[in-house]
Amino acid sequence: MLKLEDTYLHKGKRRALVAELRKKGIQSERVLEAINTLPRHFFFDTALISHAYEDKAFPIGEGQTISQPYTVAFQTELLDVRPGDKILEIGTGSGYQASILHLLGAEVFTIEYQKKLFEHTSRFLHRLGIQMHLFYGDGTGGLPTNAPYDKIIVTAGAPVIPDALIQQLKVGGILVIPVGDRQRQRMVKITKKSSRETIKEEFEGFAFVPLLGRDGWRV
Ligand code: SAH
Repeated sequence: MLKLEDTYLHKGKRRALVAELRKKGIQSERVLEAINTLPRHFFFDTALISHAYEDKAFPIGEGQTISQPYTVAFQTELLDVRPGDKILEIGTGSGYQASILHLLGAEVFTIEYQKKLFEHTSRFLHRLGIQMHLFYGDGTGGLPTNAPYDKIIVTAGAPVIPDALIQQLKVGGILVIPVGDRQRQRMVKITKKSSRETIKEEFEGFAFVPLLGRDGWRV
């Protein structure tokens, strides 16, 4: 219970983190405000809480990590989240990125491949009172039952862009996905112009845990 205390010390560290993200090039005031609002330390194991406001990725169990704040901010900025957007996230992990999307007014659908993480994060978000749609399974095929989506975000490194994800985007929708080898990825932003036409932008220099599953890496 102690963990869910948001002290002046935490708030101060969070403001400093936001200043650091601004310096590193994050421009969206709405994204920065969401990061300033959401206590990242709630999403950490007790033993690691003192590190919660460093701009680094940290372990969250099951060999997985909570993404670096800069990466969360960068992906969220690329998604251009509007209130009411229906967003699919592949790789729930700690639930931090999904909660940022929720704070920005999106209806969030998120899918996690590791059963224990799915169960832990579902319980935790319920306790925080954050409402979203959580699913357990392989997200490389998207989530067809609730498609199409305004935005799709993948928070694990993919070997290729799964076709299903582009299919499940609305026309005008945006997909943000890190693509590359197992160590390094570039961030790819796909904008769906029509049912057959997409625009692709790429940004270098990211490192995610691998996207597993049918259209991901083999274990
Ligand atoms: N968005 C998370 C980042 C978690 S790291 C956060 O804010 O904490 C990436 C997550 O993707 C891991 O939890 C991993 O288990 C999950 N993952 C990997 N392959 C997946 C797949 N095929 N479908 C769904 N989740 C997957």
